[in-house]
Amino acid sequence: MSGDDLFCRIARKEIPADVVLETDDVLAFRDVNPQAPSHVLVIPKEHLASLEEVAEGHGGLLAALVGAVNEVARKEGVAGGFRVVTNIGRTAGQSVDHLHLHVLGGRNMGWPPG
Ligand code: AMP
Repeated sequence: MSGDDLFCRIARKEIPADVVLETDDVLAFRDVNPQAPSHVLVIPKEHLASLEEVAEGHGGLLAALVGAVNEVARKEGVAGGFRVVTNIGRTAGQSVDHLHLHVLGGRNMGWPPG
């Protein structure tokens, strides 16, 4: 299923992005406002508003997303030391209503996150 949010449009190549990795189901591209030396967003091409919309039947898609995260980390040279974040809802800081995993690396990370 497809929508009209920003990341659906990036997935359809209507809006350009700095793509790091692409498969049939998943796209990974650099965040325009990076919060770490390496900051890549991994999205399903299928429209899901957030992680909360993941349901039974999305097992294959989840595996593809995680596989892409790990491959991005390897390609970016941060494997073994990176953070994966997904914000759900405005309270948590979600600004684009299309599931995306932030893959952040290349610097030391603080905890707890802000
Ligand atoms: P979130 O706030 O968790 O919803 O994350 C959305 C992310 O998308 C932010 O980190 C933005 O910097 C990033 N972003 C917004 N527009 C674009 C774009 N056109 N290309 C790449 N990243 C974007």
